[in-house]
Amino acid sequence: MSDYHGSASPGPNRVPPPRTRETAPALRHRLAELRGPDVPAKALDARALAALAANPGCRRRALLDGAGVNKTELASALGSPSAFGQSQFAFMRGDAFEARVKADGGTELLRLVHERLDPSAEPPSGAHVPDLAAAGPEGRTARTELALREATESGGWTLLDHPMLALDVAGSPAFLEPDAVVVHPDGTWTVVEIKSFPMLDGAADPAKVGAAARQSAVYVLALEDAAARVDPVPQVRHRVLLVCPKDFTNLPTAAAVDVRKQRAVTRRQLTRLTRIEEIADALPEGTCFAPDLPQERLTAAVELLPATYAPECLAACELAFHCRARSRAAAEVTSVGRSARAELGGLTTVGDVLAAAHGTAGDPADPAVAALRRAARLRAEALASAGYGARDEVLVDGEVPAGAESQDMAGASAGGAPCH
Ligand code: SF4
Repeated sequence: MSDYHGSASPGPNRVPPPRTRETAPALRHRLAELRGPDVPAKALDARALAALAANPGCRRRALLDGAGVNKTELASALGSPSAFGQSQFAFMRGDAFEARVKADGGTELLRLVHERLDPSAEPPSGAHVPDLAAAGPEGRTARTELALREATESGGWTLLDHPMLALDVAGSPAFLEPDAVVVHPDGTWTVVEIKSFPMLDGAADPAKVGAAARQSAVYVLALEDAAARVDPVPQVRHRVLLVCPKDFTNLPTAAAVDVRKQRAVTRRQLTRLTRIEEIADALPEGTCFAPDLPQERLTAAVELLPATYAPECLAACELAFHCRARSRAAAEVTSVGRSARAELGGLTTVGDVLAAAHGTAGDPADPAVAALRRAARLRAEALASAGYGARDEVLVDGEVPAGAESQDMAGASAGGAPCH
């Protein structure tokens, strides 16, 4: 342990050691208050981080994840239970497969790493598998960094089974546990991700491979931070090893996955996350997200956190049903998708969009407003040619003054805007 602290002292080209909960007692206390008395913190995992990075503008998720709030329990307490997570059977199947892959000191796993990523190295035999046990996540992180450094200096193959890595996320530490990290004889480091979905004829479901790549990219970032505290800095490989069952058997097979793109995107998104202290400081005293609070109080607390709902949340966040209902109730255009939201510029609600389209609001010089008016005119023309009059259209829309419609049409005709 002393070795860890000594080597981690900042120096030229070094990154500081990961912030620990001891380095920010005020923040730790504040986050514990927000979580609720005696409510244990839920650790952020790489899957959650990858999803967080996919929606960096969502302060609601950033704060709740940073505070360690269990969003599954919170969603149930809000009356919108999440349809998220793996079944118990899937967990057991995954655990059994991982145990098989790592059996006999990781012999088969190391063979796959050698075969797929480093065939020119000496074949792995009698690889070192260090004991990484230590107290608490900070202790396990320190133990992992010491083992990584020793393995890099040893010049042989080393398998780190469930190491612990730290990553600073919006000013708060996240502790991550990849399935394995392998240190090669040349001192380079590889992330190994073990999944229970099958690889059929050498190919797996692209959506699942993509999710595994985004998750692995988070581990690569955390590993790079650990590497930056070693002198000389070891190379973290950007091709990770994805291990899956072969066809419909329980035998492992593997593929190298290049995660450079996912790594770059995740790094950029994580740096855009607003610092958790700032979000927490904006909340009034007494705000709490404990799942045993009355539903109305919890709903009010959650509403204090600005959210950026999009349909993509349904596949990535436990609060998606709650946020979708609020977004729809507020008629926000994000509920129809991020691309529509981006195209509509400053028009954030369905009411704004309809008013702009029908000429009752909006700056005609705004490209979004102009496009909406052209679309409204085209629609009116299509309805007219199908035998519907302007009156019918007003009845369909239900909220459009007929005068505004005809004014808009007249204005568009006079302006000569192209109808394409
Ligand atoms: S579901 Fe809600 S809290 Fe989760 S990322 Fe989407 S908007 Fe944010």
